[in-house]
Amino acid sequence: MPLSATRLIRIRHRVQWALLALFLGLPFTGLFRVDVAAGRFLVGDWQVWWDDFAIVFGFWAVVFFSMTALYSNLGMIFCGWMCPQHTLSEWLNGLIRALLGRRVLAGISPERQEGRSKRQAWQLVLAWAAFVAVVLAASAVITLACLHYFFSTRQLWAHFSGGAFNLYIAVFAVMLGAFVVIDLGLLRHFWCKYMCPYGIWQYMFRGRDTLQIRFDTAREGDCRSCSLCKDVCPVDLDPRQPEVYTRCINCAVCIGACEGYMGRFDKAPILAFGFGTRAQEQERLATRRRRLLSPGVLWPLSGVAAGLLLLVTGLASFQPVKVSLGPESQSATPGADGIGYRASVLNKDRRPHRFTVAAAAPEGGRVQMDVTALALESGERADFTLRVPRAGLQYDRPYTVRLLVSREGSAHPFEATSTWYIPAPLTPDGSDAPGAVNIPARVDNGPLLE
Ligand code: SF4
Ligand code: SF4
Repeated sequence: MPLSATRLIRIRHRVQWALLALFLGLPFTGLFRVDVAAGRFLVGDWQVWWDDFAIVFGFWAVVFFSMTALYSNLGMIFCGWMCPQHTLSEWLNGLIRALLGRRVLAGISPERQEGRSKRQAWQLVLAWAAFVAVVLAASAVITLACLHYFFSTRQLWAHFSGGAFNLYIAVFAVMLGAFVVIDLGLLRHFWCKYMCPYGIWQYMFRGRDTLQIRFDTAREGDCRSCSLCKDVCPVDLDPRQPEVYTRCINCAVCIGACEGYMGRFDKAPILAFGFGTRAQEQERLATRRRRLLSPGVLWPLSGVAAGLLLLVTGLASFQPVKVSLGPESQSATPGADGIGYRASVLNKDRRPHRFTVAAAAPEGGRVQMDVTALALESGERADFTLRVPRAGLQYDRPYTVRLLVSREGSAHPFEATSTWYIPAPLTPDGSDAPGAVNIPARVDNGPLLE
């Protein structure tokens, strides 16, 4: 027995509120946060750095192509079933109707607003005050949750309790808070209809083959032209003219309205969900072919597979320590007294570790380095310098310095290398010395090896 629209809408509401709770609650659980200052994602105890290209790109490719596959099959279902904007807009439209006793839909054409409320003036003042209070409270919660995606609890507490002012938190909070208040208070579905860039993105994948509302033309005579289906549509569509509507978010509210109305006459709703055009559907029914996925879903699924491959490769080759070695200054040229290096060791692991640091000197030369041991917290980086004196080295000959960092308890060191030349000095008249080639200094960082 097919699901009734009323039940489908109830399921949709549960999905919507569960996803909204997940979106708002996730940063408070400590399971996910973006550390912009350090350039990393914090996923539980794990940290994924932005330069872990295969993991970051692979993960987002899986998300991106999975959603694209969803839109290619189910149309703009994200808007109707998952988007916090629609969830809150629907809730606030219902709330304002309950408070005022009439419908006030933001951004919808004036003829769709209901007439004057029968409530007393003082009741309306109280109702508007309550609505404004709810909008402000909801905006504060949403703003705080969004801030928590980028700032830790300690940073937020320090800022809001007056302990340590943070300019970024202040600017972000004011801008986002103002936007959310305007959005919830005034825009709501107006944003969905005219302003949402993500809606436009999903719309690009809508086609004749994706899930859509169907008006059963064979039962056209049953339609009482009550217009309920049109009146309840949050994005101002008329579902009786399926060729015309374009931004349907598959919320099923129109089917529910028709179901309620036609139920009074013991009849089934004239509207229903369906894939593809009516002609395609009839042909499928006639040939008893089952339709599982839209053909347009195949290329996004290939993208999901490629993203998964990249993600697995990234996870398999993940290096918990990043070692870098480079010249002290990009413009530095090895001179008469040698060359200076800047080195760094970053602990990308989720636990603190101790490290021993050693450098392999180039043939005939030596390395001066102050650091031999490090203790780094998770996500902590140590920067230090090395120096290779000129004595004992020849002109125009490549020399490689190797920096070796061993983690306590691990047999394999992490390594970075840097190769350079000391150009032969010029003769007093500016020409090269006989037999010498003036090669500019060059530095190559070797791959990290464990
Ligand atoms: S046409 Fe129906 S399913 Fe589509 S957005 Fe409007 S009410 Fe929702
Ligand atoms: S709700 Fe049903 S009966 Fe009323 S106008 Fe829409 S399709 Fe016709």
